[in-house]
Amino acid sequence: MHYYFCPICGSKLVEKAAGDDGKVPFCEHCYKYWFDTFSNCIIVMIYNEFNEIVLCKQNYLSDIYYNFTSGYMTPGENAEDSTYREVKEELGLEIQKLDSIGTFWFEEKDMLMHAFIAYVPKAKLTISSEIDEAKWIFYREVPKLIFPDKPGNAMWHMYRAFLKQNKLDQI
Ligand SMILES: [Zn+2]
Repeated sequence: MHYYFCPICGSKLVEKAAGDDGKVPFCEHCYKYWFDTFSNCIIVMIYNEFNEIVLCKQNYLSDIYYNFTSGYMTPGENAEDSTYREVKEELGLEIQKLDSIGTFWFEEKDMLMHAFIAYVPKAKLTISSEIDEAKWIFYREVPKLIFPDKPGNAMWHMYRAFLKQNKLDQI
């Protein structure tokens, strides 16, 4: 998000040089720069000992496609903390092993996605009210069910990383 008015006092911001960052919106009243901001989210692909993956559906996003588990980070958390918390809150699961597989810029939502693969022994899913449906799906069935592959869709990077990491068949 780019700022045009000061979020504190409402004054119109001016463009002012800020070192190597070039010109940045500046409030002459609060004497403060307002750098562009964006949301940070985690996205996690959860697998079990049977190579099943948790897929979630949120009807407001799509009534056809499934997603991995995701959520907004909150201030004070690192991405790992957020991931443990979201997985517990949304699915009632405890992560036993967590691997970071990098970050992805999600253009459509102006969002930085912190992507993880998590191992959780198979257990019943206890879903929160944020999710309409969640289930364990054998990994080979996943490509048919998730949002189509396109640049910016972190799920496909994660799925391919999972196949490689577990020496499973490529698709
Ligand atoms: Zn101000």
